[in-house]
Amino acid sequence: MPSEFDLIHRYFTHAVTHTDLGVGDDAALFRPRPGMQLAVSTDMLVAGTHFFADTDPTDLGWKTLAVNVSDLAAMGAEPRWALLAVSLPKPDEGWIAGFARGFLDCAHRFGVDLIGGDTTRGPLNLAVTIFGEVPAGQAVTRAGAKAGDDLWVSGQPGRAALGLASLRGRLELTPAGRLECIAALQRPQPRVALGLQLRDVASAMLDVSDGLLGDLAHLLERSGVGAVIEETALPIAPLLACGAGTGAARTALLSGGDDYELLFAAPASARAKAQAIAGSLDLAVTRIGTLTDRAGQLLIRDPCGKLNAQDPLGYDHFKPHAP
Ligand code: ADP
Ligand code: MG
Repeated sequence: MPSEFDLIHRYFTHAVTHTDLGVGDDAALFRPRPGMQLAVSTDMLVAGTHFFADTDPTDLGWKTLAVNVSDLAAMGAEPRWALLAVSLPKPDEGWIAGFARGFLDCAHRFGVDLIGGDTTRGPLNLAVTIFGEVPAGQAVTRAGAKAGDDLWVSGQPGRAALGLASLRGRLELTPAGRLECIAALQRPQPRVALGLQLRDVASAMLDVSDGLLGDLAHLLERSGVGAVIEETALPIAPLLACGAGTGAARTALLSGGDDYELLFAAPASARAKAQAIAGSLDLAVTRIGTLTDRAGQLLIRDPCGKLNAQDPLGYDHFKPHAP
């Protein structure tokens, strides 16, 4: 059986490109470029809570890093370095090889050096700390949105939740829709290029990990504004085309987690610019509403023009839920 050190050497050591000292010593050494501020975030994935223990290890490796990359994208920061702490029930080398392949694929895709970590025996648990760079003072926080700003979302929120429901046998999708939604769940594509280009466009931004309305509530709270969402503006047609019924599609779009799209506010004067940026990245962005001066109030205007108060339906890990 390979030792812990063999495993680390074989699978978690790669050629770093912008690091002074990577895996193998007591600590790694790296330097942010001059004028850059470090953006740091950490996220943990726990078997049974965030993924099924039998998830394909390569997909899981990708997603473990991708969800962390997404947090930096949401700040307008460039992901650069990561630490990986894994707790594994047994040293199954095939599993580790697959996991490392997915993780390093994602690292290469987004220019991240894996510079260290920790490997221990225990229940399956994956924790990443990621470091990124942003020109000092230019990060986009959740707090800068103003009443009157537009509210935008990137890509297609809702697909991951439909993919999960389909995997659990709770929902039937078209064959192509099923593939698309499961891919969104298992191989999320963090919107790094969009986040970087929105630095001087967005007044506030976050990534949608727990559901659009629930995450929007965080932005409203931090910015001290309210929002009116236009039901007719929501990008629901592509979810219907995947085979979801209207109710499931709407719920997935508004409260499904795990899509890692960017939700951002921007002044109305920046509409053309936001569309041009997204167009240049071959990515859709949709203007779904407007921010108001009613702090914390979330309203949805239905197709008849009636305003309905909305509870944010975000996923809350501390609320009881079906596993
Ligand atoms: P120490 O006992 O000195 O903390 P470790 O045995 O924990 O050293 O780790 C040895 C080296 O391997 C360190 O550079 C550490 O950062 C790295 N490392 C351990 N586990 C991982 C992992 N899962 N991914 C990447 N690097 C790792
Ligand atoms: Mg250690």
